[in-house]
Amino acid sequence: MILKEAIEQLKSGLAGVAEPQEVQAMIRVICEDVFNYDQVDVALRQESELPDFAQERIADLITRLRRHEPLQYVVGQALFHGHKFKVTPAVLIPRPETEQLVDLIIDENEGSDLRVLDMGTGSGCIAISLARALKFPQVDALDVSRDALEVARENAATLKVKVRFFESDMLAPQPAARYDIIVSNPPYVCWSEREAMEPNVKDYEPGQALFVPDNDPLLFYKAIAPYAAQSLERGGRLYLEINQRFGNEVKRLLEDCGFDEVRIIDDSFGNPRFAAATR
Ligand code: GLN
Repeated sequence: MILKEAIEQLKSGLAGVAEPQEVQAMIRVICEDVFNYDQVDVALRQESELPDFAQERIADLITRLRRHEPLQYVVGQALFHGHKFKVTPAVLIPRPETEQLVDLIIDENEGSDLRVLDMGTGSGCIAISLARALKFPQVDALDVSRDALEVARENAATLKVKVRFFESDMLAPQPAARYDIIVSNPPYVCWSEREAMEPNVKDYEPGQALFVPDNDPLLFYKAIAPYAAQSLERGGRLYLEINQRFGNEVKRLLEDCGFDEVRIIDDSFGNPRFAAATR
């Protein structure tokens, strides 16, 4: 089978799975991550012969994607902050909004040797991106899921950074420690919001990393904020990704915990998506 035929098969097999532009993007990722053809190859090597496994692999890809399995799980990786992270269904697929949170932290923290904690690290994408971008940081990261930590550890090794990972439930008391930066993208989607979500999210991504009870939407923030208030150095900063519906509530919680300069920051879609505060 030649590349041109593979692309045609994917196009017709995936028609209707997503908007045409998104299907195009999916095919680009498949060419690159499954067949090792980058965009230049795709343009120049339409007649190239693909390996024997291609036919079978394409049929499998089409079946899984038609069932709305996320492409990132199918190919086993996701791009985040310029790097490829391994992802499995044990971890949330990194979102572009979260890249914005990482950029905010990098922009606002130019010092060196900063001690950083990422609470609920999942694939490790925040912790690892910060470990790569800050100057000589010391990065810790925790997660309650052993399977997630295994993925995160593998990502840290592949991307050649040192992060200390801990298996820990952020709702339980945390050991005393000192940090300059604490960051978290905890579960924040209410169960009642689940129905409105795309099947690729609600049927495949780990609910444990996404959902909180409707009667306690700030559950994780109520654990993170007091811990950060006690563990951050004076002048240290807390950065959170939040549910756009609860900006005011998160702001109040942070103020009640004694934080200064509490800010709610919009994502690139104009939704209040992040909170930042200074100890
Ligand atoms: N932003 C994610 C979503 O839309 C939710 C992430 C989270 O709960 N922390 O699916």
